[in-house]
Amino acid sequence: MRLRLPAERPTEPPTGYKIAHPVLSQDGTRAGFTGVSLGGALPYGVLDDASCVYGRRHRPPARLCDCGFHCVHERGAAEAMLCTAEHRTALLLEVSVLGAYIRFERGFRYARQRVRTATAGPCACGATAVGLADAGWGRPGWLALAPVCAGCVRGRTSLSLAGFARLAGEGLRVGVRGGGTGAPSAESADAAEPGVPELVAEAALLQARLDWFQSQLARLGERGNGGVGRG
Ligand SMILES: [Zn+2]
Ligand SMILES: [Zn+2]
Repeated sequence: MRLRLPAERPTEPPTGYKIAHPVLSQDGTRAGFTGVSLGGALPYGVLDDASCVYGRRHRPPARLCDCGFHCVHERGAAEAMLCTAEHRTALLLEVSVLGAYIRFERGFRYARQRVRTATAGPCACGATAVGLADAGWGRPGWLALAPVCAGCVRGRTSLSLAGFARLAGEGLRVGVRGGGTGAPSAESADAAEPGVPELVAEAALLQARLDWFQSQLARLGERGNGGVGRG
């Protein structure tokens, strides 16, 4: 007698939830995500195949390995992970579980994934995010990003939420959770059809960066004038 897990044949790919840090390629042309635990060293695109994190030549999710994409069944379980200090700036992802998967009590381990939506929490200052900016760390070839408001972006490398969705491609939608109350917000950025809220957010980010550059120019100008007498 062979013991086997029951085979499932779902008519639609199962939905799962996870958290991940948004990343931007070093050359600024590609956007994706990097996981928060196992597999965090391997950034992935919106639609991507898992590979064995141990470099073994098998296809995830291999039965005797723990490689493959991971997600949980419940949105609340993924949101709970965002409470820890090291995960505060991660995004909440809603994914389609594609290809072979192994079902566990709390979630799936699987071969292929489509990220459908990504939701950014507030800026570190507490205000609602309008974009994603250099978080000050990364992976080789990839800059990690964190949610940022227009007031805090300053001169850092940054993208609007719609800009990130455009680079990530594959119809990804990027939304925000409002600052302060933590109540979900209806704002979202769709790469295909930016609406008024996305354009307003993009304009706010551009304006904030312009203000910062102008203030830097003004300071340099003052320093330049001050230096004339010394020569
Ligand atoms: Zn493996
Ligand atoms: Zn801020």
